[in-house]
Amino acid sequence: MTTAPTTPRGAGLIERWHDHIDVDDDTPRVTIGEGGTPLVHARRLGERLGVELHLKLELANPTGSFKDRGMCVAVARAVQAGATTLICASTGNTSASAAAFAAAAGLKCVVVVPSGKIAAGKLLQAQVAGALVVQIDGSFDDGLVAVRELGERPGMALVNSVNPYRIEGQKTGAWEVCEDLGMQAPDWLCIPVGNAGNITAYWRGFREWHERGLIDRLPKILGVQAAGAAPLVDGAPVEHPETIATAIRIGKPARGDQALEAIEQSGGRIIKRTDAELLEAYAALPAEAGIFCEPASAISVAGLMSALEDGTIERGARVACVLTGHGLKDPDTAVEIVTPPIHCAPNADAIARAIDAAD
Ligand SMILES: *Cc1c(COP(=O)(O)O)cnc(C)c1O
Repeated sequence: MTTAPTTPRGAGLIERWHDHIDVDDDTPRVTIGEGGTPLVHARRLGERLGVELHLKLELANPTGSFKDRGMCVAVARAVQAGATTLICASTGNTSASAAAFAAAAGLKCVVVVPSGKIAAGKLLQAQVAGALVVQIDGSFDDGLVAVRELGERPGMALVNSVNPYRIEGQKTGAWEVCEDLGMQAPDWLCIPVGNAGNITAYWRGFREWHERGLIDRLPKILGVQAAGAAPLVDGAPVEHPETIATAIRIGKPARGDQALEAIEQSGGRIIKRTDAELLEAYAALPAEAGIFCEPASAISVAGLMSALEDGTIERGARVACVLTGHGLKDPDTAVEIVTPPIHCAPNADAIARAIDAAD
């Protein structure tokens, strides 16, 4: 095949891409409607920043994050292998996704999350889908060590991004970006980096299409970590990662080496941004592009802002930022940055006076 498939995006990720991801004819076509997310040209925010800005709305996946792409393939393969229980460690979105796919496929699901460090919406998503939620007095990294061991037990399938099928599903995000740019890669792809599965997957996706001649050049990759959880930028594991961007609050990324390889091979860069810097982008996205993403996602745009300031990314470049997760998952952070509603009597005059006073 030399062109993109004609199967509609809504058919589900495995059905659409089965010839090009690691599945076979017997792999069940598990789907909850993942993939096929919009790439939005954010003209107003892009004009302010001086780039052609495209936002890949991975927050539009069924559980509100890109995790659904990889989870779909990991769960289909787990079913095929005869697993009865999914297990994962999670900062929140992996557990929300695993729980949803387990429910759809009729499997049990156990999610191990760090106590108190998980956004409210994400925890609820796992609970409503019927997962067993285990909170540990430890970090995501501690949880991952434990579930790697438990995943070896009979009937259990580990669905963290150390699972190779996760990467196979997630690489389709890169293909959709190219499709929506007229079978071209952007000049730069900006992406948050936590456990480093997604950056690995996007780079694989771009490379595969380049090798097949579907795109004529590769993008440069800008990986962005939080300043308090930046093991790849700082060059050493972080024992106690700290950031409000809980989805990337990870000190020992499982695919760190592959992330650095993607950066090097693409001629890109990996940088870190502080919580204050990421909050600026987090507020600008809904206010200037109408898109409300979670804090970890906004760090891709915070990275773009600083890369433009220091000249790493040239003005006028075509840039795609991956908005990995939905803002509604984490209302507690949003509450901190908004103006409270004004109180008013229930009539037009009073509301008119309030409008004038607000100007
Ligand atoms: C999982 C996640 C990330 C980090 O992705 P990795 O593959 O762990 O690097 C970033 N943002 C959101 C919203 C996530 O859920």
